[in-house]
Amino acid sequence: MQTAKVDLHLHLDGSLPLPWAFERALRKGILPPNTTREAFCDKMRFGSGKSAQEVMEMFDLPIALMQTREELHDTIYLLIERLAKSGLIYAEIRAASQHHTKGGLSQTQVLEALCDGRRDALRDFPSIRIGIINCLMHKLPDASANYKENLETIEATRAMLGNGVVALDLAGFENSGPFTDYAPFFEKARACNIPYTIHAGEMGEGVHVREAIAMGAHRIGHGINCVQDPAWLQEVVDTQIPLEVCVTSNLFLGLTYETHPIRTLLAAGANVTINTDNMTFSETDLANEHRQLRAIGVTEEQLTQCTRNAIRAAFLPEDEKQELLRATI
Ligand SMILES: [Zn+2]
Repeated sequence: MQTAKVDLHLHLDGSLPLPWAFERALRKGILPPNTTREAFCDKMRFGSGKSAQEVMEMFDLPIALMQTREELHDTIYLLIERLAKSGLIYAEIRAASQHHTKGGLSQTQVLEALCDGRRDALRDFPSIRIGIINCLMHKLPDASANYKENLETIEATRAMLGNGVVALDLAGFENSGPFTDYAPFFEKARACNIPYTIHAGEMGEGVHVREAIAMGAHRIGHGINCVQDPAWLQEVVDTQIPLEVCVTSNLFLGLTYETHPIRTLLAAGANVTINTDNMTFSETDLANEHRQLRAIGVTEEQLTQCTRNAIRAAFLPEDEKQELLRATI
């Protein structure tokens, strides 16, 4: 049986360890002192029946817990420890540096703290490799809302590229204004030689996938709504752009494992990878994703192919990809 080994789409803020987060929330006075562990856990899980807007607002709590160098260091350290102990050989962890400056850190200092935590974790858990992806953010009402912060995100990413930071992303509320308004940010990223993935066709229309490809994305975060139009799906298949599919995470969109489009994507020949997105909010891990997919008929061969797709799509040098590919045989 194939062991789940590579996760390319994993948000730090949606994957905090609950005991650490609960203790830290009480200590920082973010929650009333009489808050029970159960009430706290409820705030840290998507559950069902929430709107996309409500889901986005859930991230405010974990983000509030990560505003100092120590908090950023410790959260990424603990996540890498968990991933290494569960047998992953590679993961790319996402954070948005512009969300962690309320304690006075610059965006570059935020990335420095995350890279320090990564370095310490890799020293203690050398069986895993880790890349950090920094996220540009969609904010309401449109791309003008945090224009300056997004420019700083690109600058901080450029400054820390090669020190543990491997790429850029665009995350947040996908329907905040015209999607292509973000194209200038990616022109700038290309000018700085920063590779990037883009969340597209998750909670927004499938046409965003086509637009993200046109903006030069190396991969697509989710991309599942490309199945809304045969032409969009065909473009995904023809270009073989890697899709970072996160099935359990998508359940808040009203999908079930049975109705999720992953089997359509696999049958069409899309370049699918399997990922967790938010381990804590979605109460999942990569082994669970594979288990759920087996239960709806995805074969071992397909799962292995998805792992190999993920390694080929990783923001890693070619020689390291070859090493990881050999480890999956
Ligand atoms: Zn995501």
